[in-house]
Amino acid sequence: MKYLSTRGGVTDLSFCQAVSMGLSSDGGLIVPEYIPHIGVKLKDFSKLSYPALAFEIMTPFVDDISSGDLRSIINKSYSSFSEKQVAPLVQVADYYVMELFHGPTLAFKDVALQFLGNIFEYINRDKDQALNVLGATSGDTGSAAIAGLKGKKNINLFIMFPEGRTSSIQERQMTTVTESNVQNIAIEGTFDDCQALLKTVFRDLAFKSELNLGAVNSVNWARVLAQTVYYFSAYFQLGMPSYFQVSVPTGNFGNIFAAFVARQMGLPIERLILATNQNDILHRFFETGLYKKTGVRSTNSPAMDIQVASNFERYLYYFFGQEREKFEKFVESFETTGSAEINLDTYNFHEVFSTGSASDAQISDRIRSIYNATGYIADPHTAVGIEVGIKKMNTEIPLVCLATAHPAKFPSLISEILPNSSIEHPTIEALKGLPTRKKKIGNNVDELKDFIRSFVAD
Ligand SMILES: *Cc1c(COP(=O)(O)O)cnc(C)c1O
Repeated sequence: MKYLSTRGGVTDLSFCQAVSMGLSSDGGLIVPEYIPHIGVKLKDFSKLSYPALAFEIMTPFVDDISSGDLRSIINKSYSSFSEKQVAPLVQVADYYVMELFHGPTLAFKDVALQFLGNIFEYINRDKDQALNVLGATSGDTGSAAIAGLKGKKNINLFIMFPEGRTSSIQERQMTTVTESNVQNIAIEGTFDDCQALLKTVFRDLAFKSELNLGAVNSVNWARVLAQTVYYFSAYFQLGMPSYFQVSVPTGNFGNIFAAFVARQMGLPIERLILATNQNDILHRFFETGLYKKTGVRSTNSPAMDIQVASNFERYLYYFFGQEREKFEKFVESFETTGSAEINLDTYNFHEVFSTGSASDAQISDRIRSIYNATGYIADPHTAVGIEVGIKKMNTEIPLVCLATAHPAKFPSLISEILPNSSIEHPTIEALKGLPTRKKKIGNNVDELKDFIRSFVAD
């Protein structure tokens, strides 16, 4: 399989080159040349363990890692999960929940970042210079990236977060890590300041090559590929129905894009239910055809508080297909004016996508009603998917709602909504009282670069 950029400026990349590049150097997103169809082989995968299934799904996308190496990378990535099934399916009411939070940081990002960490280590195994990965986080991605890269040979990780603005659990998940290749950088500023610093550093091409900088953000193709696997697992755990539907709590469109890829590969997902919180740019687009930026709102499902969905361009690329000029016009209009539009009379999305958004009050009510009816505790992100899923579902076929975080990551919200419940998790309890480590620096790019340089020189 070869990879290319949605913008056309980069072609003919191998899998490892695509993963190393992250965001394409022409500003586009990296996509496979085509999406392979699994066809009749699908049934043969029904009895496979999760890692063996992952191997079969990923193989057509990976030409430059030997089968043996790919198998061992996958096995290592999923041995860190507390559930042998990795992503167990649980029936909650007349719908199912697929629990993606059994990894080291209790969020679904572990499924992709455990894999990405091992791929990075593999790619850099014989290089003279270490890979220095720089990331910015408002909380969740940082801890999953740290868990994926800590202790990896020939890789350093620098994670910036806004000092005092992440939850105390999120900060402890990051700063209690003791591996010396991980540096937590607390920036005196907001998350936007951290992102602006990240962009400035990556635009400095001399610094980027001097330090051999890499990125872990959600546009990395390896993350999407790893996420494709659990949709197949859901199908087998359901007992191979003729059709099923999935509801995906969506922020950057990474998770639901992986569902789209699985569907294109031949998995019988009837419809993809895209669920957003009040940051509903994607829901509005699918309803009206208008893709328009607005300000970010803080909600009780913070990992989905986004202004622009960074993976959406991948979907648009396949959606427009041969209509290159229309794709280019849409992307350019959005980049220059913050809005772009298509005519819904010409294009029909509703065969593939149903969409909806949930308010904070609806999310809280849904958490309460699920608990009262079944005893199950959903975290606020999962509750967005369930809320919209129930409203948009086709009642004739099974509904799978993705559970993207463990509720124990949100103790104050959950105890406010469910005062009599108990949501302790040993992974969170174990962080209490551990020593922490972080470097505070100002909102200043030179200070940041000096810190990275001095660490690498040591
Ligand atoms: C990142 C995240 C999401 C959003 O996933 P995308 O792939 O960005 O759409 C949803 N829930 C949780 C808990 C997350 O951490």
